[in-house]
Amino acid sequence: MHPDEFRRHGHQLVDWMADYFARVGDLPVTPAVRPGDIRRRLPTDPPAAGEPFDALFGDFREIILPGMTHWNHPGWFAYFPGNNSPPSVLGEMLTATMGAQCMSWATSPAATELEQVVMDWLRGMIGLPAGFTGVIQDTASTATLMALISARERAGNGPALTVYASREAHSSVDKGARLAGYAVEHLRHIPVDPGFALDPAALERAIEADRAAGLTPACVVATIGSTSSTAIDPVEAIAAVCRRHGAWLHVDAAYAGSAAIVPELRPHFAGMERADSVVFNPHKWLLTNFDCTAYFVRDVDALLRACRASPEYLRTAHDAEVVNYRDWGIQLGRRFRALKLWFVIRSYGVDGLQAMIRRHVALARELAGWVGSDARFELMAPVPFGLVCFRWRPAGMPEPEIDRRNEVLLARVNASRRVHLTHTRLGGRYAIRLVVGQRETGREHVEEAWRLIGETADELSDWSP
Ligand code: PLP
Repeated sequence: MHPDEFRRHGHQLVDWMADYFARVGDLPVTPAVRPGDIRRRLPTDPPAAGEPFDALFGDFREIILPGMTHWNHPGWFAYFPGNNSPPSVLGEMLTATMGAQCMSWATSPAATELEQVVMDWLRGMIGLPAGFTGVIQDTASTATLMALISARERAGNGPALTVYASREAHSSVDKGARLAGYAVEHLRHIPVDPGFALDPAALERAIEADRAAGLTPACVVATIGSTSSTAIDPVEAIAAVCRRHGAWLHVDAAYAGSAAIVPELRPHFAGMERADSVVFNPHKWLLTNFDCTAYFVRDVDALLRACRASPEYLRTAHDAEVVNYRDWGIQLGRRFRALKLWFVIRSYGVDGLQAMIRRHVALARELAGWVGSDARFELMAPVPFGLVCFRWRPAGMPEPEIDRRNEVLLARVNASRRVHLTHTRLGGRYAIRLVVGQRETGREHVEEAWRLIGETADELSDWSP
């Protein structure tokens, strides 16, 4: 592509992107496609001759876009958010343009040093002390794997190492433990209290039983903001247990960690500063487009012992005096993720980011109030952040039937394609999850979701399977 053509199409694309941000709320939030629909419209073989960019862009609009789910839609209430912002996208464009490869300080000095500075900003923003060092990972799953590997290193890499997390912990903990080489029979799922938070007394009992059996407790993963219900494990108490038994404490705050920048929400994170490592995802709730995970660790050496590799062909003159982030994770090649994060923090300022999180949390609490005061519905868990778990509870109906009706209710609400919500199971019961977390989500969007839910419940009152 000639530079003049690049300029023309670049401008065309930026115009499209600006329009997309402005009108995404008018699009159906989820696509009306069946498995295979998109693939059938694409050629099975690549073109022998190059095609004009207009043809590619045309196909993007005609074929790809109608098959996309719009996570930026203000009616997106599903999973946890993956929000983004114009400054983040602009940062990503520059990163791609430079083709930055940031495996070593020498391969992109500014990328390494910016990452050090931005991670230090972020560390202070979430209230972690200076003893923590930050590094950007691709996902929370990878960061948790790094924590598990570091814990394994510190515990001496033996075969009898154990890992503990609550029954509500994210699946990435079990997956990471398996990948890090812990024996599956040494993974402990600790019971939770009625608010779905880990029971520290049960944790201590499990650790004592394991030690009595000759096993070594290597790592405990505590969650602040669990995936199903944003439950908050009692990190202070868990940290005390970890200290007593010499286990590494990793805090998984993948979604909720962004809320630690808000002073009045900070009490939810009590004890986090006593952890060995902490992860949270700016790519979930801090306006930084996927992927961007912040991993903070005290004992960097344990990580370096596991990950460092210095073959001759990678050595540079400055290795002794610089950070080479290739040694801080699995992959050699690294993206330049700090730039978009820097753009976001500078564009919105800490005040602007705090304001967004406050707005989302306030909307979630308002919705929780509507749910709580409507006799047809029931709240299923506390609402410390932006997630509301609830269900429709038709009077006099057996539990399995209530589950089934809520499933149908959710499917019908989502079929509107105006909003999108997901579900979970809490205490064995089907629960609808609504998370407020998109940049443009306002009160009117939460109201629309609640209206659709109420109307659908009324329609379904006489429904029989
Ligand atoms: N931990 C928790 C508590 C999560 O909720 C999630 C995803 O929602 C993850 C970990 C995994 O995040 P990632 O997709 O960044 O690996």
